[in-house]
Amino acid sequence: SSAAEEEFDFFYLVQQWPGSFCDTRQGCCFPDDTGRPATGFGIHGLWPNYAKCKTAFNDEPNAAPGLESAINKRRKKKCWPEYCNNGEPLKLGQIADLLATLNANWGTLSCKNKKSFTFWAYEWKKHGTCSGLAQHDYFQAALRLKAQHNLTGILAQAGIVPSDDKTYFLSSIRDAIKEGTGFKANLECNRGVGGETQLFQVYQCVDVSGEKLIDCPLPMQGNCQDRVQLPAF
Ligand code: 5GP
Ligand code: 5GP
Repeated sequence: SSAAEEEFDFFYLVQQWPGSFCDTRQGCCFPDDTGRPATGFGIHGLWPNYAKCKTAFNDEPNAAPGLESAINKRRKKKCWPEYCNNGEPLKLGQIADLLATLNANWGTLSCKNKKSFTFWAYEWKKHGTCSGLAQHDYFQAALRLKAQHNLTGILAQAGIVPSDDKTYFLSSIRDAIKEGTGFKANLECNRGVGGETQLFQVYQCVDVSGEKLIDCPLPMQGNCQDRVQLPAF
């Protein structure tokens, strides 16, 4: 992508609750080398975002030449940049000093290949390449932000503890995060095996330098309901 296309307005730091990831029909797995993670949120990614979606007109590569442009172009809504820098691959050597912290805070829960490096490499290629940050700095930025505000602790302070029985007001989770971090975040829910609504991911907003939290500029349609669970893990 061109440099102009890669300009963005803020990052989402997305953290996932392992109890919710695991309590779905797809289930979860733990990394071969590091095993079951400690109880707590884990990083999913640090994602560059536009404050307003753009309507891009992409060239239709398969259209016959000479057809009118309305047919040659396909309208596409773009709300974030992705896959920049020609898919520059992540190099293990660039993050060697971060590996212990990455394993503890950004482990894979997917059953596809149980290697966290594969997850990091995917997140780098899709989102990191558009961040304007070097590989090392991109991963370090996400780890630093997570370390600054312990979401699991912030929720526990407000009496929101992992439980397979309790349900919590969504507003109480929202308020606890605003109170504990100083900034408004967005929340995403999923459905457990029993159909219950559970808190799945927290989207914190970050300035373009990747250093400081900001209030999320837009609300999100996060699939939550007034009452949600935080399943045990
Ligand atoms: P899903 O459709 O499961 O919500 O998201 C699939 C993938 O699309 C995510 O893993 C992420 O890579 C990307 N994605 C979804 N929502 C957003 C968003 O709001 N911002 C950015 N930058 N990427 C997103
Ligand atoms: P995104 O939703 O970021 O586009 O895609 C996430 C990709 O990373 C999916 O292909 C998913 O299979 C893989 N992945 C590996 N580990 C994890 C994990 O722990 N959580 C999530 N959400 N996706 C993971």
